[in-house]
Amino acid sequence: MRIEDSVNSIKGVGPKTAQLFEKMKILNIQDLLKLYPRNYLRYEEPIDIALAQVGERVAIRASIQSEVSIKKVRNLKIVSCVVKDGSGSVKLTWFNSPFLKQFFRIGQSFVFVGTLSAKGAQLTMEHPEYYKIEQYNMRKASLQPVYPLTEGLSNKLVTKAVTGALEVLDELPDNIPLQVREKFQLLPLKQAILGVHFPDSWDAMLECRNRLVFDEFFSFLVKMRQMRQHRIKEENHFDIHDFSSVRRFLEQLPFSLTEGQKKAVSEIQSDLSGMTVMNRLIQGDVGSGKTVIAEIAMLAVVSNGYQAALMAPTEVLAMQHYEGINKDLESYGVCVALLCGSTKPAEKRKIYERLQSGEIDIVIGTHALIQECVIYNNLALVVTDEQHRFGVRQRERLSHKGEQPHVLVMSATPIPRTLAIIMYGDLDISVIKDVPACRKPIKNCVVGPKYRPTAYKFMFGQIQEGHQIYIICPMVEASENVEAENVIEYREMLLEYFPSSVNIAYLHGKMSPDEKNDIMSRFANKEIDILVSTTVIEVGINNPNATVMMIENAEKFGLAQLHQLRGRVGRGDAQSYCIMLCASDKKEALERLEILNQSNDGFYIANEDLKMRGPGDFFGVRQSGDMIFQLGDIYSHAEILKQANEAIQFLEKQQYSFETIREQESVVL
Ligand code: ADP
Ligand code: MG
Repeated sequence: MRIEDSVNSIKGVGPKTAQLFEKMKILNIQDLLKLYPRNYLRYEEPIDIALAQVGERVAIRASIQSEVSIKKVRNLKIVSCVVKDGSGSVKLTWFNSPFLKQFFRIGQSFVFVGTLSAKGAQLTMEHPEYYKIEQYNMRKASLQPVYPLTEGLSNKLVTKAVTGALEVLDELPDNIPLQVREKFQLLPLKQAILGVHFPDSWDAMLECRNRLVFDEFFSFLVKMRQMRQHRIKEENHFDIHDFSSVRRFLEQLPFSLTEGQKKAVSEIQSDLSGMTVMNRLIQGDVGSGKTVIAEIAMLAVVSNGYQAALMAPTEVLAMQHYEGINKDLESYGVCVALLCGSTKPAEKRKIYERLQSGEIDIVIGTHALIQECVIYNNLALVVTDEQHRFGVRQRERLSHKGEQPHVLVMSATPIPRTLAIIMYGDLDISVIKDVPACRKPIKNCVVGPKYRPTAYKFMFGQIQEGHQIYIICPMVEASENVEAENVIEYREMLLEYFPSSVNIAYLHGKMSPDEKNDIMSRFANKEIDILVSTTVIEVGINNPNATVMMIENAEKFGLAQLHQLRGRVGRGDAQSYCIMLCASDKKEALERLEILNQSNDGFYIANEDLKMRGPGDFFGVRQSGDMIFQLGDIYSHAEILKQANEAIQFLEKQQYSFETIREQESVVL
């Protein structure tokens, strides 16, 4: 077995499992070694059933009391039996695991681990893990990895596959140059990988993990360095000096720009007409008005006879930009096109032709813009919106289209200046600190499920005033394993609750692009009053008429993500509201949400979040679900990021030849 072999070659991993792994982009053994746990569980000392709390995950040591029964309910085979210890009994059930009938014999003892619930007087556990006593005792001191999974792939199976993969751990190449490993006293890579999958203790795991985070940052910075070298002081051979259309655009704008926006515009103008090509990041909190800046930059470019491209991370957002920009720039005789993955092939071909001939001035789209086949006539500006969603490579690929075009990237990620300089080392930065003056601060509340009827009543009032509402649920559909609201059933429930005059629709990522676009444009046209959605609307969506954002299971989201979601409202003149519904009564969950409740400022939130979590506590909810690193989090691992940066500088001083560092695909999305 070699590290580049298919996962299929691991003992116990058949072609079917290999296919499931493939779905997760795990093709070979190396990929599997880098499939890091997303959390760990401790093998706790089993406790008496009588002492176990309902709702808690517990380990019990109990013997099989009743014959295992199998009941068929619709398509499900439900396996159940009763177990007991000296203090009480629990009814255990499993779905679709009929083989357990042969496995459990009356009188035998096992350790069962699961979440305890109660049906009347009967304690129950669904889908508990089961271990033979000796087996459990052996593991007790260690931590159990919890892997990211896909439907059909169990944690047990992944654990087994990873264990098998460890056999060839020795072959895994270390990409960090030896002198860096020595100078920064990094743990050996093998030890780090082993310790992240199967740690002996929490502290040991953290240490191992830090080594892998270093690797991620290091590879990222090597890539950044290449880009910087490549682009540094690239000559600006575009002739963009006529800004009369920009002036006209600003005069006709229904609002005046904020100070931050004005500064950004003037910086962009001098970049566009300067000696070297523009490389600029616009950083501004959600709702600070970045889109109009991009629009102005694109207008400047096209009215001087060049093309511009705008890349967005999702089709929904690309579509929205397309419609808005098309409308705004129509009267300037600008030809705008939309190019996405879902664009019909014939339509795509036509757009390619018209891009190449120069007929299209502005093209807006997703990754489809960086496909090989897209050839521009005279591309002078590329804009990426929500740039943190893209890897460096994608940004680079778009900027390689045409001849060194100007580059403008936009991001809402609140990142301290010191880190921004490292992360975006190749970019000049314009910060928009202010939000439009007409905005009223969003009013927030954190409430429990009991508050729902009050919330709905309130929403109804807002709808009657002509406003619209978002409700976010974590899930698309009901699931056996996760207890959280889902958009499909939630909408059904709302339909019962609200009078039929209220239009309610749902939106989620599994819908086809056409369906999604249809819903979004109906929402924009106010044909939908309440949009029940997953986080697909998280980035960039703009409907200034929406005034209420209600987030179900708010405890399941990261603070940065909640802040982004909340940013979907408060985008117009009307007072807006954010209702965070917390289904957990855990103290930490409420404390975390309280940070958002207190402030609408992205920087403040990121800082408080970090303080609260402490450096060791980074699981469950990441600062941002949208960072490009697998393990690294630029906030909680800021020190490691700085170290990796020092390592690069150290190598530069030694005239190290960076080309010898193998590219690591996995780091950059
Ligand atoms: P973001 O920075 O989150 O991308 P957008 O560019 O989508 O924000 O802007 C949010 C809303 O604010 C849009 O409806 C936009 O038209 C509006 N807007 C932008 N700038 C201003 C301004 N200076 N005054 C008033 N409204 C503005
Ligand atoms: Mg935006």
